[in-house]
Amino acid sequence: MPLQNTSSEGFIKEVFTSIQGEGKYVGALQLFVRLSGCSIGCKGCDTDYSFSDSFDLDGISVLSNPITAEKLSYIIYDHIKPNSIHSISITGGEPLLQKDFLKELIFYLKGYGYRIFLETSGFFIDRLNEVGDMVDIISLDFKLGESFGVEFSLDEIGKIKDEIKDKIYVKIVLKDSFDFVVGRKILDGLALLGKTEFYLHFFDNCIKTNKIIMNYFYSNGVDVFYVPQLHKLLEIK
Ligand code: SF4
Repeated sequence: MPLQNTSSEGFIKEVFTSIQGEGKYVGALQLFVRLSGCSIGCKGCDTDYSFSDSFDLDGISVLSNPITAEKLSYIIYDHIKPNSIHSISITGGEPLLQKDFLKELIFYLKGYGYRIFLETSGFFIDRLNEVGDMVDIISLDFKLGESFGVEFSLDEIGKIKDEIKDKIYVKIVLKDSFDFVVGRKILDGLALLGKTEFYLHFFDNCIKTNKIIMNYFYSNGVDVFYVPQLHKLLEIK
């Protein structure tokens, strides 16, 4: 793809190749593009989304921030070809906070033929509705107050455009306790998306309470898949 002048610049935290550790596509080989910045403030967040003046590309080069979407996509294509990975996971932080840059980056990466996988906290639905048409797969968190100190909103979930619902799978990370009021809310959120399944993780990868939780969802017509966080088991990024 020829280089052209572009306007959007973004801040990247890191770019690396690894195995998807969560959700429906666990085990897939992806190139992760981690964008800087997040305003959600989850308690216990262990993701480094800080802004810096440079970022690492797969341990082979260091690039300067900010960077244009066009330049980054060109460098990525030079580094790894679309047919050698499952997809590019655009993650954060919260990637939707750099929406204009994100849209441009997706535009160029799609032009090179990559499948685009977007990971989002689910707190910026208006922005998700703008970007969702451009991507192939959306990993959407239902964050719960008990686990994160912030909680997803049914009103917001209800605003998601029908056209992008099919691209979404829902992921939930729980601590080892469970509140059936929250369980009801999860069921309502899934119903708003037309989903009858979701992917369940536990903070500490424990299994001692998951059968009770899983029984609850199956008995309410929802398939729940417990997936240990593979990247933590493998001690990789
Ligand atoms: S949304 Fe993700 S990156 Fe942002 S504070 Fe929460 S866990 Fe951390």
